[in-house]
Amino acid sequence: MSARPAKLPPFDPADPLGIDDLLDPEDLAIRDTVRGWAADRVLPHIADWYERGELPGIRELARELGSIGALGMSLTGYGCAGATAVQYGLACLELEAADSGIRSLVSVQGSLAMYAVRKFGSEEQKQRWLPPMASGETIGCFGLTEPDHGSDPAGMRTYAKKDGSDWVLTGRKMWITNGSVAGVAVVWAQTDEGIRGFVVPTDAPGFSAPEIHHKWSLRASVTSELVMDEVRLPADAVLPEVTGLKGPLSCLSHARYGIVWGSMGAARASFEAALDYAKSREQFGKPIGGFQLTQAKLADMAVELHKGVLLAHHLGLRMDAGKLRPEQVSFGKLNNVREAIEICRTSRTILGANGISLEYPVMRHATNLESVLTYEGTVEMHQLVLGKALTGLDAFR
Ligand SMILES: Cc1cc2nc3c(=O)[nH]c(=O)nc-3n(C[C@H](O)[C@H](O)[C@H](O)COP(=O)(O)OP(=O)(O)OC[C@H]3O[C@@H](n4cnc5c(N)ncnc54)[C@H](O)[C@@H]3O)c2cc1C
Repeated sequence: MSARPAKLPPFDPADPLGIDDLLDPEDLAIRDTVRGWAADRVLPHIADWYERGELPGIRELARELGSIGALGMSLTGYGCAGATAVQYGLACLELEAADSGIRSLVSVQGSLAMYAVRKFGSEEQKQRWLPPMASGETIGCFGLTEPDHGSDPAGMRTYAKKDGSDWVLTGRKMWITNGSVAGVAVVWAQTDEGIRGFVVPTDAPGFSAPEIHHKWSLRASVTSELVMDEVRLPADAVLPEVTGLKGPLSCLSHARYGIVWGSMGAARASFEAALDYAKSREQFGKPIGGFQLTQAKLADMAVELHKGVLLAHHLGLRMDAGKLRPEQVSFGKLNNVREAIEICRTSRTILGANGISLEYPVMRHATNLESVLTYEGTVEMHQLVLGKALTGLDAFR
């Protein structure tokens, strides 16, 4: 029989399943660093940024995120931190516990733009772009979605045609995170050879990135259109190592993995606000947390929250072992974002009227998660991915 501790460890409301025992000291140190950075640099300001619909100081924030190793965190070489998938996931969770907009900045930079260059770029492209992106000096964006092509990007109209050895890129991309502040855009376009990726310096003549306003979700995040009007690019602007939709889809799989963790950060922050409130708010002569109906909500939320973190950790171990399939990422994104949004909504009910106030983080997280539910594959897309994997029948068309 294996040795058992003489006494059971105490129940920890912040970690009821003892998930921290699965993490090693380096994981915990990285988590603490990111949590500390977010507490210092984001939490004191986020309600104000959100209300104003801005992310002021985004360039400074990006450099700070670079200095703590959060940009392109799980990539190796070229100034990247070379962290494990679990460590990257823990960072996403802590960033999204502050705000989904901050996690989106990091995801798009590291898992989409940098990942595309690292995986499919030439040696020259890697050396030119990755070190300044890892340090946060250069912000990147990733242009796949178009006004008429979202869930089905195969029909994209953005086109790159050959002109001598140059490429000439024309088209529009929509809903592009970081677009207006990016120094480099990874843009996916049709060519005579199929879909290719292009590394586009945003100061190239003919390129513009007007910001999209009037959003009621991800308000502390820059979202833009990309307009490309005959942007002339040299032959070496194309990502040489991939042709076809599998290029952008493999980047999306990496970013979705971060969302599996990140969404649980938004859920944790909302749950903590609700738990705290339930213990101090009194109605009918006692704390509302003392009523069975409130306790049922808290118990159900804790179960989904920590199940979601366990699932994220499980997928992280599979990614570190090189065994994570895209269908498994769909499983995680589908479950965790859906449950996170439910946790926010239930937390909102516990806070009563205060739940709709920006004084508390709950409604901000709930509205942010509406975007997270849609981007990187909607709920329906992930259901179709899993449906196809389960039945062998393709129901996309
Ligand atoms: C804040 C924000 C930031 C974003 N950042 C980026 C970015 O950085 N880069 C980028 O490229 N994109 C980005 N996106 C775009 C995002 O990826 C798309 O919005 C998403 O892929 C869905 O596309 P769509 O909005 O065109 O919806 P549509 O594809 O038009 O879908 C509308 C609805 O129809 C459903 N639907 C579609 N097809 C089917 C089907 N076959 N069966 C059943 N239901 C179906 C969808 O699930 C959805 O519910 C961002 C979006 C937001 C909101």
